[in-house]
Amino acid sequence: MTALAESDGGIVACWSCRGPVASLALFCHTCGAVQPPRQVDHFARLGLARGFEIDLAELDRRYFGLQRNLHPDRFARRGAKERAIAESQAASLNQAYETLKEPLARAAYLLELAGRRSAAAHAATVDDAELLTEAMENREALMEAEDGAAVERIAVTAKASAEACLAELAQAFRRDDIEKADQLATRLRYWQKLAEEARGKRRLLEDAAP
Ligand SMILES: [Zn+2]
Repeated sequence: MTALAESDGGIVACWSCRGPVASLALFCHTCGAVQPPRQVDHFARLGLARGFEIDLAELDRRYFGLQRNLHPDRFARRGAKERAIAESQAASLNQAYETLKEPLARAAYLLELAGRRSAAAHAATVDDAELLTEAMENREALMEAEDGAAVERIAVTAKASAEACLAELAQAFRRDDIEKADQLATRLRYWQKLAEEARGKRRLLEDAAP
């Protein structure tokens, strides 16, 4: 029998018994051997439809369900090869989960899948005059803020703007407007960063307080 190619209707050959196994199955149903991670996107790996709006409870359920089956204790008595395969399968699931659970990382990943080298994912130059002006003004305001209330105002603005941005981002992905989604993802990254900086400044002020 010839080895089955990965493209053959999602059926691949088990590395251990060479029997057919569904490409996304963790285990061979014939011999029970754990299967290596396949070349699929993070959504497919976790059994979710590709899109920005995902059910986070479903994401958790699928991820923890799969991860439970890969716990190292289950492979303690298996050979070194199976242990290594289980580890790489677990690492692929972790990477998929970490990417999909955070909206910004998920957006950047979707943009990457759409063939865009997004500024939200890479520290690329931001080509958004409005955003750059806003960023400069807010940085200045944050630098000059001398009390908790002033910092809090900036933090509240940043949080509200990030939330508004997130809603717009979902709409852009729904319309399949990749260019707009890219711009919004960069904005989201900015607002999240500003919120983080405001938290940092608040801690500084608190530490300095007598
Ligand atoms: Zn097998």
